[in-house]
Amino acid sequence: MNEIQIGVVGTGQIGVDHIKRITEHCRGARVTAVSSRRRAPAEAAASICGARVEDEFEALLHAPDVDAIVITSPSQFHEEQVLAAIECGKYIFCEKPLAITAEGCRKIVDAEVRAGKRLVQVGFMRRYDKGYRQLKEAIDGGTYGRPLIVHCAHRNIAPHGEFTTEMSITQTAIHEIDITRWLLDDDYVSAQVMFPTQTSNAAEGLRDPQMILLQTARGAVINLEVYVNCKFGYDIQCEVVCENGVLRMAEPSNLTIRSNAMRSVALETDWVLRFIDSYDVELNAWLDGIRRGRIEGASAWDGYVAAVTADALIRSQKSGKTEQIELDQRPLLYLS
Ligand code: NAP
Repeated sequence: MNEIQIGVVGTGQIGVDHIKRITEHCRGARVTAVSSRRRAPAEAAASICGARVEDEFEALLHAPDVDAIVITSPSQFHEEQVLAAIECGKYIFCEKPLAITAEGCRKIVDAEVRAGKRLVQVGFMRRYDKGYRQLKEAIDGGTYGRPLIVHCAHRNIAPHGEFTTEMSITQTAIHEIDITRWLLDDDYVSAQVMFPTQTSNAAEGLRDPQMILLQTARGAVINLEVYVNCKFGYDIQCEVVCENGVLRMAEPSNLTIRSNAMRSVALETDWVLRFIDSYDVELNAWLDGIRRGRIEGASAWDGYVAAVTADALIRSQKSGKTEQIELDQRPLLYLS
């Protein structure tokens, strides 16, 4: 296949990052067109890579020099944009979430099944992080026996802009919802949220921290602390307790400083730097999938499962009870 020509929809923070990434770190691909809500940011983004600006998403989608679409618009537009791109037969990389409702995700799954081919990859970039990949390899290798418990923590310094108790699930925990299911290769059956002692760091109305419990069909239990006002850094932890060993995810290495009778290592302050390498690997993997005609990253079905799980957790936030997770039958397209 010749150079893959890409259209990018939504030129905000991650849209611009992905444009730079494709331009500087992706082999055999080029951004040829961009579109966004306002013309000026779209022009600024287009100038990074010598692309043109299309005022309308439809024009970008149908352009003959656009083979594949990267969707980095706000989450509420993903559903209609992904559906239109499937209809058009184009490959799609859609930032998470695939859609803001499980119903919307299900519509995308149905459209892809009708198309008869996987066209969509969802932006769950942790699947490409070196630490998580090492964990998965160790679990799949079987040396340590079956995974029994997964301890996770997702801590942010503070939320940007308006942030709600539900967003701790849909924007934050959503990454662990996907990654622990991928690590264990097991579906969730139940979900619960508990609210520990409230931090005084949080804005009024936001319940923080939150403790999440998920149980899988094979019985493993995942506990996840989400603390979005921890103040000290961006801190992602994952430890898998197996029958015959405990596997702790390696953290990215940083300079160790010995000074003032202390040994310290700097932490990242946000996700951009913590997962910077994963995004590069993720987009290259998507492009390789297009070349092979077989997309293998997080699928529309994975996007649907994440949304159903998030819904159950939000129900539990309100009910205070353990909520059951019921998934539709997985279509054959997603079984191989
Ligand atoms: P952002 O900075 O607000 O950027 C969104 C951009 O889309 C803005 O330039 C916005 O333009 C434009 N836009 C608005 N309506 C549009 C439409 N209908 N069609 C096309 N473009 C439109 O947001 P962001 O932080 O980049 O996030 C974008 C998406 O990526 C979100 O879904 C988010 O969840 C996801 N994300 C994923 C990760 C990850 O770790 N995988 C990280 C960050 C973000 P205006 O400024 O003119 O409104």
